[in-house]
Amino acid sequence: MIGLDAGTYGGAVAAYALRFVGLRYLQSEELTSDGIDCSTLTSQSHWAGALEVIPFRAEAQRTAEYAFVVRDTADALPGDVFVQHQDSASSPGGRHNHVGMMVGWVGGEPTLLEASERVGVRIINARSFELNGGIRRFLADPCGLMPRTAVARAALAMAGGVPKFGRFGMRQYLGSACNRVPHRATDIYVASGSKVYAPFDGRAEHAVIDPDGAQGVRVIANGRTCELGHVEPTALGSVRRGQVVGRVLCPAPLVDILYSPAYSDPTHLHFAVGCSARPSVRAIHCDGLWWSEPLAMCREGIIGVPVDQESVRGAFADEFA
Ligand SMILES: [Zn+2]
Repeated sequence: MIGLDAGTYGGAVAAYALRFVGLRYLQSEELTSDGIDCSTLTSQSHWAGALEVIPFRAEAQRTAEYAFVVRDTADALPGDVFVQHQDSASSPGGRHNHVGMMVGWVGGEPTLLEASERVGVRIINARSFELNGGIRRFLADPCGLMPRTAVARAALAMAGGVPKFGRFGMRQYLGSACNRVPHRATDIYVASGSKVYAPFDGRAEHAVIDPDGAQGVRVIANGRTCELGHVEPTALGSVRRGQVVGRVLCPAPLVDILYSPAYSDPTHLHFAVGCSARPSVRAIHCDGLWWSEPLAMCREGIIGVPVDQESVRGAFADEFA
C-alpha cells in the first residue's frame, strides 16, 4: 500500500500514474494501452492527474526552466520527477535521459514509479534509483488542494479528454511522419455540435487556421488572439466573454490519422491563445506571437473556458481504468 494524499495535486498525479503499473516498456510518442516509456509516464500523469505543464521528453523535463529544483530525496513529494543522468549525452546510449516519478511512501520510504526499459512499469524505492540528473517539481502548488473555482474545475475536467497528440507543445504529424510541427494549441474532445464560447471580450472573425487549414473562429482583443478550430461560426463581430460564437464540427478526414486509434471519433475543438507579450504561463514563440498553454490560462482565470464542460467526453480517463 502506498501512502498518498489524493486531495492534493501531487497525490492526484500519483494516483493517475499508478494506473500504468504492469505495462511493458514501449518507446512511443503516443499513449497506447500496449506500453509506455519513462517520460510519457511522467508527463501523462501530470497532465491527466493535475493539469500541470510538463515537457514530453525526459531530457526536457530535466532542463525545463520553469521546473522547481528539489535538492534532496528526503524533500521530494508525490509528482516530483527524478532524473537519472546528468544529461542525454551521459546516458548509456548517449541519446535519451531516463526519468521516474515519486508516487508516495512505503513504510516511510520515498517510492518511485518508473517505466524501465528492461522490466516495464514498476514501483521502486527512490533511494535505489541512480539519481545524477536531480529532482524536478512541476506542481505549481504541491501542498494546495484541488482547484475550487468553476473555471479551474472545468479546465481540469477537460484535461481528461485531451490525448497526448492533441496537447500543447506536442510535436504533431502533418500527414507525413517526416514533417512535424509543435502543436501550439490544446485539442479538447467534445461531441459534434457542442457550443463554443468566446473566452474573452473581442472581435470574432471567420478564420482558416494553420497548420492544417481548419475552419474556425478567431477572437481578437488588445494584444490577444484566440483560435477556435474545427468550428462553424454562429456569431461574428463584437462578442463578449461567454457568448456563443460557433459549434464544433467534425474535422476533415486528414485529422483522423493524427490521433491515437483509441479515438474513433476525432471531433474536437482546437483551442489556441496567442499573445503579443510573453504571458505568465508556459508559451511557445511562433509567427511573431507567444502561444500559451490555453487550459492553464483558463485555470488561472485569465480567460474563460471555450466549451461547455458538460459536453466533454470522459473516454480518455477511462482508458487505463
Ligand atoms: Zn489541434
